[in-house]
Amino acid sequence: MKLYEFQGKRIFREYGIPVPRSSLITKAGETSEVKPPAVLKAQVLIGGRGKAGGVKMWNNEADLGPLCRDLLAMNIRGEAVRAVLVEERAEIVQELYMSITFRGSTATPVLMVSASGGMDIEKVAHETPEKIVTTTLNSLTGPSDYQVRYIAKRTGYGNARDLGKFVAALWAAFKGTDATLVEINPLAVTKNGLVALDSKVVLDNKAAYRHKELFARLDDEQRVLAGDAAEGYAEHTITYVPLDGTVGLISDGAGTGMLTLDLIKDAGGKAANFCEMGGFTSPQVIYDALTEVLQNPSIKSLLVVLIGGFNRMDEMAEGILKYREDHGLPVPAVIRMCGTLEDAGKEAMKKGGIPTHDGLLEAVKTAVALAEGE
Ligand code: GDP
Ligand code: MN
Repeated sequence: MKLYEFQGKRIFREYGIPVPRSSLITKAGETSEVKPPAVLKAQVLIGGRGKAGGVKMWNNEADLGPLCRDLLAMNIRGEAVRAVLVEERAEIVQELYMSITFRGSTATPVLMVSASGGMDIEKVAHETPEKIVTTTLNSLTGPSDYQVRYIAKRTGYGNARDLGKFVAALWAAFKGTDATLVEINPLAVTKNGLVALDSKVVLDNKAAYRHKELFARLDDEQRVLAGDAAEGYAEHTITYVPLDGTVGLISDGAGTGMLTLDLIKDAGGKAANFCEMGGFTSPQVIYDALTEVLQNPSIKSLLVVLIGGFNRMDEMAEGILKYREDHGLPVPAVIRMCGTLEDAGKEAMKKGGIPTHDGLLEAVKTAVALAEGE
Protein backbone atom coordinates (compact mmCIF):
# COMPACT_ATOMS: atom_id res chain seq x y z
CA MET A 1 0.00 0.00 0.00
CA LYS A 2 1.42 3.26 -1.19
CA LEU A 3 0.73 6.15 1.18
CA TYR A 4 0.04 9.81 0.59
CA GLU A 5 2.67 12.18 1.88
CA PHE A 6 0.47 13.28 4.79
CA GLN A 7 -0.13 9.67 5.81
CA GLY A 8 3.56 8.86 5.66
CA LYS A 9 4.40 11.93 7.69
CA ARG A 10 1.88 11.02 10.36
CA ILE A 11 3.70 7.71 10.76
CA PHE A 12 7.01 9.58 10.86
CA ARG A 13 5.68 11.83 13.60
CA GLU A 14 4.53 8.85 15.63
CA TYR A 15 8.04 7.41 15.49
CA GLY A 16 9.68 10.66 16.54
CA ILE A 17 10.94 11.76 13.14
CA PRO A 18 10.80 15.58 12.97
CA VAL A 19 8.28 16.79 10.35
CA PRO A 20 6.89 20.31 9.84
CA ARG A 21 3.62 21.31 11.51
CA SER A 22 0.85 20.87 8.98
CA SER A 23 -2.84 20.84 8.19
CA LEU A 24 -4.72 19.16 5.38
CA ILE A 25 -7.13 20.91 3.02
CA THR A 26 -9.53 19.07 0.74
CA LYS A 27 -11.64 21.98 -0.52
CA ALA A 28 -10.60 25.43 -1.67
CA GLY A 29 -11.93 27.89 0.89
CA GLU A 30 -11.06 25.79 3.92
CA THR A 31 -8.91 27.53 6.47
CA SER A 32 -5.55 26.35 7.72
CA GLU A 33 -4.18 26.28 11.24
CA VAL A 34 -0.72 26.67 9.81
CA LYS A 35 -0.04 30.24 8.72
CA PRO A 36 2.34 31.65 6.12
CA PRO A 37 5.18 31.50 5.35
CA ALA A 38 4.19 27.96 4.43
CA VAL A 39 4.38 25.44 1.62
CA LEU A 40 1.29 24.03 -0.15
CA LYS A 41 1.76 20.53 -1.44
CA ALA A 42 -0.55 18.63 -3.76
CA GLN A 43 -1.24 15.17 -2.36
CA VAL A 44 -0.81 12.57 -5.07
CA LEU A 45 0.59 9.06 -5.04
CA ILE A 46 2.72 9.73 -8.07
CA GLY A 47 6.27 11.13 -7.80
CA GLY A 48 7.80 14.21 -9.42
CA ARG A 49 5.07 16.47 -8.14
CA GLY A 50 7.39 19.39 -7.40
CA LYS A 51 8.60 19.52 -10.99
CA ALA A 52 5.01 19.31 -12.22
CA GLY A 53 4.11 22.47 -10.26
CA GLY A 54 2.42 20.66 -7.38
CA VAL A 55 4.42 22.44 -4.65
CA LYS A 56 3.71 26.14 -4.09
CA MET A 57 5.00 28.71 -1.66
CA TRP A 58 2.29 30.44 0.38
CA ASN A 59 3.41 33.90 1.49
CA ASN A 60 0.31 36.09 1.94
CA GLU A 61 -2.58 34.98 4.10
CA ALA A 62 -5.18 36.04 1.49
CA ASP A 63 -3.70 33.82 -1.23
CA LEU A 64 -4.62 30.52 0.40
CA GLY A 65 -7.97 30.12 -1.38
CA PRO A 66 -6.76 30.84 -4.92
CA LEU A 67 -3.57 28.77 -4.49
CA CYS A 68 -5.54 25.78 -3.17
CA ARG A 69 -8.10 26.17 -5.97
CA ASP A 70 -5.26 25.98 -8.52
CA LEU A 71 -3.71 22.94 -6.87
CA LEU A 72 -7.03 21.12 -6.43
CA ALA A 73 -7.78 21.66 -10.12
CA MET A 74 -4.48 20.07 -11.11
CA ASN A 75 -3.98 16.74 -12.68
CA ILE A 76 -0.47 15.44 -12.13
CA ARG A 77 0.41 12.92 -14.81
CA GLY A 78 -3.08 11.47 -14.83
CA GLU A 79 -3.72 11.73 -11.11
CA ALA A 80 -6.26 14.28 -9.89
CA VAL A 81 -5.22 16.32 -6.85
CA ARG A 82 -7.72 15.74 -4.05
CA ALA A 83 -6.00 17.24 -1.06
CA VAL A 84 -3.40 19.86 -0.25
CA LEU A 85 -0.99 19.61 2.66
CA VAL A 86 -0.21 22.98 4.21
CA GLU A 87 3.13 22.95 5.99
CA GLU A 88 5.15 25.45 7.93
CA ARG A 89 8.00 26.42 5.69
CA ALA A 90 11.42 25.21 6.75
CA GLU A 91 14.53 27.22 6.07
CA ILE A 92 16.68 24.76 4.21
CA VAL A 93 20.44 24.87 4.64
CA GLN A 94 21.03 21.70 2.66
CA GLU A 95 18.85 18.99 1.06
CA LEU A 96 19.82 15.39 1.83
CA TYR A 97 18.24 12.16 0.69
CA MET A 98 17.55 9.18 2.97
CA SER A 99 15.69 5.94 2.48
CA ILE A 100 15.39 2.41 3.79
CA THR A 101 14.16 -0.33 1.52
CA PHE A 102 14.85 -3.98 0.77
CA ARG A 103 17.51 -5.06 -1.64
CA GLY A 104 16.12 -8.05 -3.45
CA SER A 105 19.43 -9.68 -4.35
CA THR A 106 20.56 -10.03 -0.72
CA ALA A 107 17.11 -9.99 0.91
CA THR A 108 18.35 -7.43 3.40
CA PRO A 109 17.23 -3.91 4.25
CA VAL A 110 19.49 -1.19 2.92
CA LEU A 111 19.91 2.37 4.07
CA MET A 112 20.67 4.92 1.39
CA VAL A 113 21.82 8.43 2.14
CA SER A 114 23.02 11.19 -0.10
CA ALA A 115 24.25 14.69 0.54
CA SER A 116 22.75 15.68 -2.81
CA GLY A 117 19.03 15.29 -2.19
CA GLY A 118 16.16 17.23 -3.69
CA MET A 119 14.24 17.04 -6.88
CA ASP A 120 17.15 15.85 -9.01
CA ILE A 121 17.95 12.70 -7.04
CA GLU A 122 17.25 10.50 -10.08
CA LYS A 123 19.88 12.45 -11.99
CA VAL A 124 22.33 12.01 -9.10
CA ALA A 125 21.64 8.26 -9.02
CA HIS A 126 22.20 8.04 -12.74
CA GLU A 127 25.19 10.31 -13.27
CA THR A 128 27.06 10.22 -9.95
CA PRO A 129 25.91 7.08 -8.14
CA GLU A 130 28.93 7.29 -5.83
CA LYS A 131 27.22 10.24 -4.14
CA ILE A 132 24.59 7.87 -2.76
CA VAL A 133 25.98 5.92 0.18
CA THR A 134 24.36 2.51 0.54
CA THR A 135 24.69 0.48 3.72
CA THR A 136 23.33 -2.99 4.33
CA LEU A 137 21.41 -3.20 7.58
CA ASN A 138 21.03 -6.12 9.95
CA SER A 139 17.33 -7.05 9.84
CA LEU A 140 17.21 -7.74 13.57
CA THR A 141 19.34 -5.00 15.05
CA GLY A 142 19.04 -2.23 12.45
CA PRO A 143 21.63 0.46 11.90
CA SER A 144 24.67 0.33 14.14
CA ASP A 145 26.72 3.25 15.47
CA TYR A 146 29.66 2.57 13.19
CA GLN A 147 27.38 2.58 10.15
CA VAL A 148 25.99 5.96 11.18
CA ARG A 149 29.51 7.34 11.67
CA TYR A 150 30.47 6.00 8.27
CA ILE A 151 27.50 7.72 6.65
CA ALA A 152 28.14 10.96 8.50
CA LYS A 153 31.67 10.94 7.19
CA ARG A 154 30.88 9.89 3.63
CA THR A 155 28.08 12.41 3.19
CA GLY A 156 29.89 15.21 4.96
CA TYR A 157 27.05 15.65 7.45
CA GLY A 158 28.99 16.52 10.56
CA ASN A 159 26.61 15.74 13.43
CA ALA A 160 26.79 11.95 13.78
CA ARG A 161 24.69 11.96 16.99
CA ASP A 162 21.87 13.87 15.36
CA LEU A 163 22.09 11.67 12.28
CA GLY A 164 22.12 8.54 14.44
CA LYS A 165 18.93 9.56 16.21
CA PHE A 166 17.28 10.26 12.92
CA VAL A 167 18.35 6.99 11.30
CA ALA A 168 17.22 5.03 14.37
CA ALA A 169 13.77 6.64 14.22
CA LEU A 170 13.44 5.94 10.51
CA TRP A 171 14.46 2.33 11.10
CA ALA A 172 11.86 2.04 13.87
CA ALA A 173 9.20 3.36 11.51
CA PHE A 174 10.27 0.99 8.73
CA LYS A 175 10.29 -2.05 10.97
CA GLY A 176 7.35 -1.04 13.13
CA THR A 177 4.92 -0.65 10.23
CA ASP A 178 6.31 -3.48 8.09
CA ALA A 179 7.17 -1.03 5.36
CA THR A 180 8.93 -2.00 2.17
CA LEU A 181 10.05 1.58 1.57
CA VAL A 182 10.48 4.70 3.66
CA GLU A 183 12.00 7.56 1.73
CA ILE A 184 12.68 11.16 2.67
CA ASN A 185 13.59 13.53 -0.11
CA PRO A 186 14.46 16.16 0.74
CA LEU A 187 15.67 15.50 4.22
CA ALA A 188 16.35 19.11 5.12
CA VAL A 189 19.23 20.30 7.20
CA THR A 190 17.90 23.33 9.10
CA LYS A 191 19.28 25.36 11.94
CA ASN A 192 17.08 23.28 14.24
CA GLY A 193 18.45 20.00 12.92
CA LEU A 194 17.14 17.45 10.44
CA VAL A 195 13.52 17.69 9.24
CA ALA A 196 11.68 15.33 6.88
CA LEU A 197 10.17 17.63 4.26
CA ASP A 198 8.67 14.86 2.16
CA SER A 199 7.66 11.25 2.69
CA LYS A 200 7.27 8.29 0.46
CA VAL A 201 6.10 5.23 2.34
CA VAL A 202 5.02 1.87 0.98
CA LEU A 203 3.62 -0.70 3.42
CA ASP A 204 3.66 -4.44 2.84
CA ASN A 205 0.09 -5.57 2.14
CA LYS A 206 0.99 -9.06 3.29
CA ALA A 207 1.58 -7.67 6.77
CA ALA A 208 -1.81 -5.94 6.93
CA TYR A 209 -3.07 -8.50 9.43
CA ARG A 210 -0.42 -7.29 11.87
CA HIS A 211 -1.57 -3.68 11.61
CA LYS A 212 -5.33 -3.93 11.23
CA GLU A 213 -6.16 -0.53 12.71
CA LEU A 214 -3.44 1.27 10.81
CA PHE A 215 -4.39 -0.26 7.47
CA ALA A 216 -8.10 0.36 8.07
CA ARG A 217 -7.48 4.03 8.78
CA LEU A 218 -5.15 4.54 5.82
CA ASP A 219 -7.55 2.68 3.57
CA ASP A 220 -10.52 4.75 4.75
CA GLU A 221 -8.65 7.96 4.07
CA GLN A 222 -7.62 6.83 0.62
CA ARG A 223 -11.20 5.83 -0.17
CA VAL A 224 -12.52 9.21 0.88
CA LEU A 225 -10.03 10.93 -1.40
CA ALA A 226 -10.93 8.56 -4.24
CA GLY A 227 -14.63 9.19 -3.52
CA ASP A 228 -14.11 12.88 -4.03
CA ALA A 229 -12.58 11.98 -7.35
CA ALA A 230 -15.61 9.92 -8.31
CA GLU A 231 -17.72 13.06 -8.16
CA GLY A 232 -15.55 14.61 -10.79
CA TYR A 233 -15.44 11.49 -12.93
CA ALA A 234 -17.56 12.68 -15.86
CA GLU A 235 -14.98 14.34 -17.98
CA HIS A 236 -12.57 11.46 -17.44
CA THR A 237 -14.61 8.32 -17.55
CA ILE A 238 -17.65 8.69 -19.78
CA THR A 239 -16.62 7.95 -23.33
CA TYR A 240 -19.00 9.40 -25.90
CA VAL A 241 -18.45 9.02 -29.64
CA PRO A 242 -21.22 10.31 -31.93
CA LEU A 243 -22.18 8.05 -34.86
CA ASP A 244 -24.81 8.57 -37.52
CA GLY A 245 -27.50 5.97 -36.72
CA THR A 246 -30.73 6.02 -34.72
CA VAL A 247 -30.18 3.66 -31.75
CA GLY A 248 -28.80 5.56 -28.75
CA LEU A 249 -26.43 3.22 -26.91
CA ILE A 250 -25.12 3.23 -23.33
CA SER A 251 -22.99 0.40 -21.94
CA ASP A 252 -21.22 -0.06 -18.64
CA GLY A 253 -17.97 -1.12 -20.25
CA ALA A 254 -16.10 -0.63 -23.51
CA GLY A 255 -16.09 -4.35 -24.40
CA THR A 256 -19.85 -4.71 -24.02
CA GLY A 257 -20.27 -1.50 -25.97
CA MET A 258 -18.20 -2.78 -28.91
CA LEU A 259 -20.03 -6.08 -28.92
CA THR A 260 -23.38 -4.31 -28.86
CA LEU A 261 -22.39 -2.07 -31.78
CA ASP A 262 -21.84 -5.22 -33.84
CA LEU A 263 -25.08 -6.79 -32.67
CA ILE A 264 -27.02 -3.64 -33.60
CA LYS A 265 -25.55 -3.81 -37.09
CA ASP A 266 -26.30 -7.54 -37.38
CA ALA A 267 -29.89 -6.82 -36.38
CA GLY A 268 -30.18 -4.37 -39.27
CA GLY A 269 -29.91 -1.18 -37.23
CA LYS A 270 -27.40 1.62 -36.83
CA ALA A 271 -26.07 3.03 -33.56
CA ALA A 272 -26.40 6.77 -33.00
CA ASN A 273 -23.33 6.79 -30.78
CA PHE A 274 -20.95 4.81 -28.65
CA CYS A 275 -21.11 5.62 -24.95
CA GLU A 276 -19.58 3.74 -22.05
CA MET A 277 -19.32 4.67 -18.41
CA GLY A 278 -15.76 3.59 -17.74
CA GLY A 279 -16.12 1.37 -14.71
CA PHE A 280 -17.69 3.93 -12.40
CA THR A 281 -20.89 3.15 -10.59
CA SER A 282 -23.24 5.72 -9.17
CA PRO A 283 -26.70 6.96 -10.12
CA GLN A 284 -25.04 10.16 -11.30
CA VAL A 285 -22.86 8.39 -13.88
CA ILE A 286 -25.77 6.87 -15.78
CA TYR A 287 -27.72 10.09 -15.34
CA ASP A 288 -24.90 11.97 -17.07
CA ALA A 289 -24.54 9.31 -19.75
CA LEU A 290 -28.27 9.66 -20.50
CA THR A 291 -27.92 13.43 -20.67
CA GLU A 292 -25.11 13.03 -23.18
CA VAL A 293 -26.76 10.41 -25.38
CA LEU A 294 -30.31 11.77 -25.41
CA GLN A 295 -29.26 15.22 -26.60
CA ASN A 296 -28.90 13.72 -30.09
CA PRO A 297 -32.11 14.54 -32.04
CA SER A 298 -31.62 11.63 -34.48
CA ILE A 299 -32.24 9.04 -31.80
CA LYS A 300 -35.35 6.88 -32.26
CA SER A 301 -34.74 4.39 -29.47
CA LEU A 302 -32.45 4.06 -26.46
CA LEU A 303 -30.56 0.88 -25.65
CA VAL A 304 -28.88 0.56 -22.24
CA VAL A 305 -26.72 -2.54 -21.88
CA LEU A 306 -25.53 -3.29 -18.35
CA ILE A 307 -23.54 -6.34 -17.35
CA GLY A 308 -23.09 -5.33 -13.73
CA GLY A 309 -19.62 -6.40 -12.77
CA PHE A 310 -18.36 -3.40 -10.88
CA ASN A 311 -21.58 -1.58 -11.62
CA ARG A 312 -24.52 -1.83 -9.20
CA MET A 313 -27.89 -2.35 -10.81
CA ASP A 314 -29.79 -0.67 -7.97
CA GLU A 315 -27.77 2.48 -8.59
CA MET A 316 -28.24 2.24 -12.34
CA ALA A 317 -32.01 1.95 -11.87
CA GLU A 318 -31.98 4.91 -9.52
CA GLY A 319 -30.10 7.05 -12.05
CA ILE A 320 -32.33 6.08 -14.98
CA LEU A 321 -35.54 6.73 -13.05
CA LYS A 322 -34.23 10.01 -11.71
CA TYR A 323 -33.34 11.14 -15.22
CA ARG A 324 -36.84 10.27 -16.44
CA GLU A 325 -38.38 12.13 -13.53
CA ASP A 326 -36.31 15.26 -14.25
CA HIS A 327 -36.39 15.30 -18.06
CA GLY A 328 -38.68 12.54 -19.32
CA LEU A 329 -37.50 10.05 -21.95
CA PRO A 330 -37.91 11.34 -25.53
CA VAL A 331 -37.73 7.85 -27.08
CA PRO A 332 -38.66 4.31 -26.01
CA ALA A 333 -36.01 2.81 -23.75
CA VAL A 334 -34.80 -0.79 -23.81
CA ILE A 335 -32.83 -1.68 -20.70
CA ARG A 336 -30.88 -4.88 -20.32
CA MET A 337 -29.80 -5.54 -16.75
CA CYS A 338 -27.87 -8.32 -15.10
CA GLY A 339 -25.08 -8.86 -12.59
CA THR A 340 -24.48 -7.09 -9.31
CA LEU A 341 -27.69 -6.41 -7.36
CA GLU A 342 -29.66 -7.39 -10.45
CA ASP A 343 -32.83 -8.21 -8.50
CA ALA A 344 -32.94 -4.86 -6.73
CA GLY A 345 -32.33 -3.04 -10.01
CA LYS A 346 -34.98 -4.93 -11.93
CA GLU A 347 -37.49 -4.52 -9.12
CA ALA A 348 -36.95 -0.76 -9.05
CA MET A 349 -37.26 -0.51 -12.83
CA LYS A 350 -40.43 -2.56 -12.81
CA LYS A 351 -41.93 -0.34 -10.13
CA GLY A 352 -40.94 2.66 -12.21
CA GLY A 353 -42.78 1.19 -15.20
CA ILE A 354 -39.75 0.42 -17.38
CA PRO A 355 -39.43 -3.36 -17.55
CA THR A 356 -35.96 -4.75 -18.20
CA HIS A 357 -34.62 -7.43 -20.50
CA ASP A 358 -32.40 -10.37 -19.58
CA GLY A 359 -31.07 -11.39 -22.98
CA LEU A 360 -28.66 -9.11 -24.79
CA LEU A 361 -29.67 -10.21 -28.29
CA GLU A 362 -33.34 -9.84 -27.53
CA ALA A 363 -32.76 -6.35 -26.12
CA VAL A 364 -30.76 -5.31 -29.18
CA LYS A 365 -33.41 -6.60 -31.58
CA THR A 366 -36.15 -4.79 -29.67
CA ALA A 367 -34.23 -1.51 -29.70
CA VAL A 368 -33.50 -1.82 -33.43
CA ALA A 369 -37.14 -2.63 -34.20
CA LEU A 370 -38.29 0.40 -32.20
CA ALA A 371 -35.82 2.63 -34.02
CA GLU A 372 -37.03 1.33 -37.36
CA GLY A 373 -40.58 2.20 -36.28
CA GLU A 374 -41.93 -1.34 -36.34
P1 GDP B 1 8.34 16.23 -4.82
O1 GDP B 1 8.93 16.97 -5.96
O2 GDP B 1 7.01 15.66 -5.17
O3 GDP B 1 9.24 15.20 -4.26
O4 GDP B 1 8.02 17.31 -3.68
P2 GDP B 1 8.81 17.70 -2.33
O5 GDP B 1 7.88 17.64 -1.21
O6 GDP B 1 10.04 16.91 -2.19
O7 GDP B 1 9.16 19.22 -2.57
C1 GDP B 1 9.87 19.64 -3.73
C2 GDP B 1 10.82 20.77 -3.37
O8 GDP B 1 10.11 21.85 -2.80
C3 GDP B 1 11.87 20.39 -2.36
O9 GDP B 1 12.98 19.75 -2.94
C4 GDP B 1 12.24 21.75 -1.79
O10 GDP B 1 13.21 22.36 -2.58
C5 GDP B 1 10.94 22.53 -1.89
N1 GDP B 1 10.33 22.56 -0.54
C6 GDP B 1 9.47 21.68 0.00
N2 GDP B 1 9.19 22.01 1.28
C7 GDP B 1 9.89 23.13 1.55
C8 GDP B 1 10.05 23.96 2.71
O11 GDP B 1 9.47 23.75 3.79
N3 GDP B 1 10.89 25.03 2.61
C9 GDP B 1 11.55 25.33 1.45
N4 GDP B 1 12.34 26.36 1.43
N5 GDP B 1 11.43 24.56 0.34
C10 GDP B 1 10.62 23.48 0.40
MN1 MN C 1 10.27 14.83 -2.65
